[in-house]
Amino acid sequence: MISKLPKWAADWTEKAGAIMSGMRILDVAYISPNIKRIRFQGDISRMNFQIGYAHVIRVSDTEFRNYTASYHNADEGILDIIFHIHGNGAGSRYIDGLQPDDALRISIPRGKKMYEPSIKRQFIFGDETSLGLACSILPILQKNKHEYQFYFELDDAHQNVPELLGLKNYTVFSKKNTFRNEQWVDELPVLNTKEWNTANFILTGNAKSVQTFRKKLKEQSSGNIASQGYWLEGKKGL
Ligand SMILES: Cc1cc2nc3c(=O)[nH]c(=O)nc-3n(C[C@H](O)[C@H](O)[C@H](O)COP(=O)(O)OP(=O)(O)OC[C@H]3O[C@@H](n4cnc5c(N)ncnc54)[C@H](O)[C@@H]3O)c2cc1C
Repeated sequence: MISKLPKWAADWTEKAGAIMSGMRILDVAYISPNIKRIRFQGDISRMNFQIGYAHVIRVSDTEFRNYTASYHNADEGILDIIFHIHGNGAGSRYIDGLQPDDALRISIPRGKKMYEPSIKRQFIFGDETSLGLACSILPILQKNKHEYQFYFELDDAHQNVPELLGLKNYTVFSKKNTFRNEQWVDELPVLNTKEWNTANFILTGNAKSVQTFRKKLKEQSSGNIASQGYWLEGKKGL
């Protein structure tokens, strides 16, 4: 779905029963001051959850943004999303204001499937915007007995967030190290360990980091790469 529409089209899209479901906020938890997890409740029985899929939420009269379910339970009609409140855009401001009991409409999830179950080793890279994907894939990786590891690039204030979310086998990098530096990426252990050469690589988060990491992986590994930039500096509603 495109991120910006005229108001009349946004009104029509939000009302469309085939793609949008009415939800109510059950609970709000701050994992850190700028990482907000919201639990929504509603009828999610029609929703097809796949790793990499995202929900669309209307965040202003004319704008929609993408967000990933970190957890869902169809029997209880529960859906969790972990939001990065970065303070720069309409989505961030709208989500910041959401409180328990608020009602809103959330789209069915859709997008790009990122998990390839037949590959033994799974590597997941991302930033704050990828934490929901990480939380949703962890139980699948454990259940299907994959070898797995996460790399996160996070703001200094968020270095302990993966631990607070119960994630495992992760390495946290400061954004100052920068996954945009090709030479620095060349030295990363995952690119220099033979067993990880054929892994399934799931890359999301900052578009420049994803692009650099993908380029180096293509040069140096023979694994499967599933990648999607989630946001780009200076660009609205990627
Ligand atoms: C498939 C998909 C799944 C996603 N899942 C999630 C999710 O689960 N949780 C989540 O928080 N986000 C997620 N995102 C990212 C989110 O949609 C973007 O960050 C979006 O740009 C936020 O909209 P906004 O209105 O706040 O900012 P925009 O209006 O889009 O952008 C305004 C300014 O803010 C900057 N900006 C945007 N995002 C960030 C950021 N994270 N950090 C710093 N600056 C930023 C932009 O570069 C721009 O300069 C996902 C994106 C995609 C495509």
